[in-house]
Amino acid sequence: MSSHALNHRRSLADWIPFGLGQIKPKHFRDMLGIIWKNRDNLPYAYKVVTEGVCDGCALGVAGLHDWTIDGPHLCITRLNLLRLNTMPALDHHVLEDMSELEKLHTHELRELGRLAHPMLRERGAKGFRRIPWDDAYARIARRIRAADPKRVAIFVTSRGVTNETYYMAQKVARFLGTNHIDNAARLCHGPSSAAMEKTLGVAASTCSYKDWYGTDLLVFFGSNPASAQPVATKYLHEAKRLGTKVVLVNPLLEPGMKRYWVPSTAGSALFGTDIADYWFPVSQGGDIAFIYGVLKVALGHGWIDEAFLRERCTGWAELKSEIHKLKIEILEARSGLARTTMLEFANLMHAAKTGVFVWSLGITQHPHGSDGVQMILNLALTRGWVGRDRTGVMPIRSDSSVQGGAEMGAYCTAFPGVKAVNAENAAWLAREYGFEVPAWAGMTVVEMVEACGRGELEAFYNLGGNFLRALPEPAHVARSMANVPLRVHQDIILTDQMFIEAREEVILLPAKTRYEQDDGGTETSTERRVMFSPELPRKVGECRADWKILRDIAVTTHPEKAHLFGCETGWRMREEIARVIPFYDGVQHLRRIGDAFQYGGAHLCAGGVFATDDGKAHLSAPQVPAGNAEGCFHLSTRRGKQFDTLIYAETDPLTGADRDAIFMSDDDATRLGVENGERIVLVNDIGRYEGRVFLADLAPGNLQVMWPEGNVIIRRGVADTGGGVPEYNAQVRVESR
Ligand code: SF4
Repeated sequence: MSSHALNHRRSLADWIPFGLGQIKPKHFRDMLGIIWKNRDNLPYAYKVVTEGVCDGCALGVAGLHDWTIDGPHLCITRLNLLRLNTMPALDHHVLEDMSELEKLHTHELRELGRLAHPMLRERGAKGFRRIPWDDAYARIARRIRAADPKRVAIFVTSRGVTNETYYMAQKVARFLGTNHIDNAARLCHGPSSAAMEKTLGVAASTCSYKDWYGTDLLVFFGSNPASAQPVATKYLHEAKRLGTKVVLVNPLLEPGMKRYWVPSTAGSALFGTDIADYWFPVSQGGDIAFIYGVLKVALGHGWIDEAFLRERCTGWAELKSEIHKLKIEILEARSGLARTTMLEFANLMHAAKTGVFVWSLGITQHPHGSDGVQMILNLALTRGWVGRDRTGVMPIRSDSSVQGGAEMGAYCTAFPGVKAVNAENAAWLAREYGFEVPAWAGMTVVEMVEACGRGELEAFYNLGGNFLRALPEPAHVARSMANVPLRVHQDIILTDQMFIEAREEVILLPAKTRYEQDDGGTETSTERRVMFSPELPRKVGECRADWKILRDIAVTTHPEKAHLFGCETGWRMREEIARVIPFYDGVQHLRRIGDAFQYGGAHLCAGGVFATDDGKAHLSAPQVPAGNAEGCFHLSTRRGKQFDTLIYAETDPLTGADRDAIFMSDDDATRLGVENGERIVLVNDIGRYEGRVFLADLAPGNLQVMWPEGNVIIRRGVADTGGGVPEYNAQVRVESR
């Protein structure tokens, strides 16, 4: 049987120091460029890097040190974001006439500088005019007060937003009488939260990064930490040194996961680290079928920990019966992998005593995202790989703040502490707050945008984000966003969604960055570490702290009950968070850089005791998704050199692909008779996407294009039923240009 073990035999060229001549990030050259970009404010840039908690991904670092490795923790993603924190104010006069601004790309808008004054654009005006804060507050408050609370919605993004801002946003929403509050975590790991909560009773990683070290098997499903969490490669270098086998289950053999040059680890910086030992090229959306196949093989060989399943889990009988029922031929066809491949994976698991499963958007961003997560949890539980050293399940987050977003209750489906939105919990929260809290289910972010389109919202409040770029079918998003009387955009920079006219008025509110935020702020990392980032004072125009703006609007809207609100300072808010969310107890004591605690300790579900009602894990048996239509490719979207919708380079240094690349396997290119670099068109009933063939180690039958550009051929309104994440994949046909 052919193996999926990667061949790391090196040629002479591979021994050229620093990977010269190879496609790889040029860390040291990039650093010089970043220093040059920040040259007008270098002392502040230095402060942010050495004293702040990183506003990049959710790996988590305070200053230059984390809790996992000795030595410095720094990456280019963080340095690229630095300019957002050091740039001067933009000249607000440029907003007076939209006709010129509308021609600019998003990166050109970003480079104009920080949004520094409240601005108003009334319907029919050719641009924005500056208004005083009090006027902005009064306009927003007047409209919200006059509206049915069910016609008011708030969205909070993840751009460096702190736990305090999420907490405040949800409290404001409930104070205003609405549960239409959602955050960016919905767009990435909503399915992880839903499936983990249902299965394990917790919605966070059960283990710590240190569990990667020396675990026998570390599997990455649909994730690419070399791109999304670059310093994770340093952890992987260490794990490999201790004998860990690293496995990639992904349509693409991500070059950064094959070999990575860790710049701060001498040997690795010189000659690179071979990271993945195995690559299982599953078809996009085929993970559920693949895992069923692995379980079928493992069951046949008696490689399942039946004792753990019997004693610590429910639902095994139903899952086992489903595994028996499913035909291996169907599982092969849907996963794109042969039964021998499933056997090889099952064998790796069988040979391992410990294992950690990590997953990300390749699993979650599907209409069956929760089911994909469910199957990963099922697989881990069949070996009892939770709650002890070197085992665990980890939804790795690529945005710094989103882990805390749902835990703070900025979620239409959860109150603070991830308590379900229902009458009992609304009554509990009302007792905590001293004012009424609505018990009805709110709208997800995708539903909010759709509700705008149907004219069901009076006010749509956006703290950051850019739906025009982030959601499928941008032309439809633009029409929807225009169909609401008041839109508010609270942000630090300009985005093109701000330029869409509203039915009556658009108000821009200038926010401080997380570092400027009054009284500092906290962030929760993927491994549940709550870290304090102190206030690093800086004045830019009239910017105000995110949480303060939200609070001001709440008390301006309902002055008659303003005395009930509390949370007058960041310190008081953290005291309240510790009281309302008991697992955040300790947050009130964080005061200096490096102050942190890991809630729940190193492992959740320790000793096989789960946070469910009966203390057991609840397995379930999701359906295997249908295959592709005849003659169609699976298309998925991927990231290049970017942070969310902020694009930092036209060419991805990890793959060498340009923004218009259409990743394709050699087999498919040969079959279609197309060549590397040739222009082709992808077509479906949503639209057309033109790009250039980019040959890559990709599972045949699959294509990948960059996100958000690919959104033009993704169908809107299709979302995961468990987590509400929108579909970011499509079925397409290939046409020559
Ligand atoms: S890996 Fe993530 S947390 Fe660490 S420095 Fe880079 S962006 Fe920040």
